[in-house]
Amino acid sequence: MIGVVGGGVAGLAAAYRLQQRGHDVRVFEASEDLGGLAAVYETAGDPIEKFYHHLSKSEETIVELAEELGLGEDVEWRIGENAYYVDGVVHPMDKPWEILSFPHWSLYDKFRLGMLTLDIDVRGGIPSFDTYENLADFEDVPVEEFARDHTTENVYETFFEPLLDAKFGSRKQDVSAAWLLGRIKFRGERDILNGEILGYLDGGFGRLLDALVEAVGRENIETGTRVTDVLTEDGEVTGLTAESADEGATEHDVDSVVVAAMPNVLEELTGYPCEIDFQGTVCSVISMDEPLLDTYWLNIADEAPFGALIEHTNFVDRERYGGRESSDSRAHQNSSSSEDGEHLLYVARYIQSPEEDVWQQDDDEVRETWLSGIESLFPEFDRESVNWVKTARNPRTAPVYERGYLDMVVPYDLSEEVADGVYYAGMASEAQYPERSLNGGIVAGYEVADRIDQK
Ligand SMILES: Cc1cc2nc3c(=O)[nH]c(=O)nc-3n(C[C@H](O)[C@H](O)[C@H](O)COP(=O)(O)OP(=O)(O)OC[C@H]3O[C@@H](n4cnc5c(N)ncnc54)[C@H](O)[C@@H]3O)c2cc1C
Repeated sequence: MIGVVGGGVAGLAAAYRLQQRGHDVRVFEASEDLGGLAAVYETAGDPIEKFYHHLSKSEETIVELAEELGLGEDVEWRIGENAYYVDGVVHPMDKPWEILSFPHWSLYDKFRLGMLTLDIDVRGGIPSFDTYENLADFEDVPVEEFARDHTTENVYETFFEPLLDAKFGSRKQDVSAAWLLGRIKFRGERDILNGEILGYLDGGFGRLLDALVEAVGRENIETGTRVTDVLTEDGEVTGLTAESADEGATEHDVDSVVVAAMPNVLEELTGYPCEIDFQGTVCSVISMDEPLLDTYWLNIADEAPFGALIEHTNFVDRERYGGRESSDSRAHQNSSSSEDGEHLLYVARYIQSPEEDVWQQDDDEVRETWLSGIESLFPEFDRESVNWVKTARNPRTAPVYERGYLDMVVPYDLSEEVADGVYYAGMASEAQYPERSLNGGIVAGYEVADRIDQK
């Protein structure tokens, strides 16, 4: 039997692929719920992810998996509009004329940023088309130095710096230029007249997880069961210890173990150290009767307790959250707010240190921090329109993509480093670079399954 540690998307994808190849698999998930960082809240209609989620056009494995599981028709490609909040004004940033009229940039600033996003290096006046081809060339270059050099000082200060502050906070100095270039390539397609094309699954990504669980077989998955030890003998895995409230500690014989969890779990179980630092996130979903924004994603360049406001129902129809026709089997009748569904807004902050105020706050305090932050940016915002606020927090939600990152990723096959039969498919694996994603988790799960199968 193969034991999989973690019932997030990576562990479930590994289990699914292994079973397809004829292996006997058992998934152990520490919490009562499956899905890990992709877990959902119930609403009056479709469930909603606790942490905002969408797909980029360049991500193919997750779309193929959705097709295999019979959900291919439900993958939707939608326009996710972006805007920038600077000095009290929201500037839409999708259409060419919106970008051209952004008042904080000169024509030259726009030209330089435009060339970088088209992968053309115009430094020195002679265009070069292959400078950015090999990301590894930029692995040791600090992102700030790179952005100032490859665009302009002003573009760095008015655009990249606020984004880096929101994403990496005090760690922004450590981030590599390779990460930024990877992100530019990763974002994928734009509709030239409308904006960025992003993917979503009708009904939420929870449906993909449910379909994976069904394919793997619920009887092969133990929730509320934490793996506490991986047992080895003569350099080979022989078993694992799993603990649950009902059964206490139980030993299971296994030929292989797939650790599909954060690298600290790998270290606890096997002693394998990983030097990648992780940041945490505090993220709330706010249900409102009224919309707050006209855009999906609003980056905030002003002082605020959050880095971005993400109005999910400006991306996905709000009718799905309580207002769908009853003929739709996923809709519920008990809409709690309005007949047309709820307006759902994500408010999130990445956390670099547990000392940060927002990390220390309880749910009521977080709610107050967000709502007063919104009020100071949008004086017309009316608290009375808020129906509910749900807050999720997790101490490890994203790696800090610092310089030299690729040297620190955890190999899929740890037979040399730990013991024969130990594999890793968690967020510190190569598939989760340059951005961690559901697709990356599935790729990591498959990479490991392929290696086990080929042994
Ligand atoms: C704020 C935020 C925004 C995001 N936005 C996007 C997005 O827009 N698009 C996108 O594709 N992705 C996005 N992601 C990333 C995506 O959610 C993750 O990449 C993916 O869910 C990671 O899956 P995983 O299985 O590797 O890890 P996890 O989801 O962390 O799963 C690991 C599981 O292992 C369990 N576990 C830990 N220790 C043990 C143990 N000892 N025994 C048993 N079980 C254990 C945990 O409880 C957990 O369920 C976002 C994530 C966050 C936090």
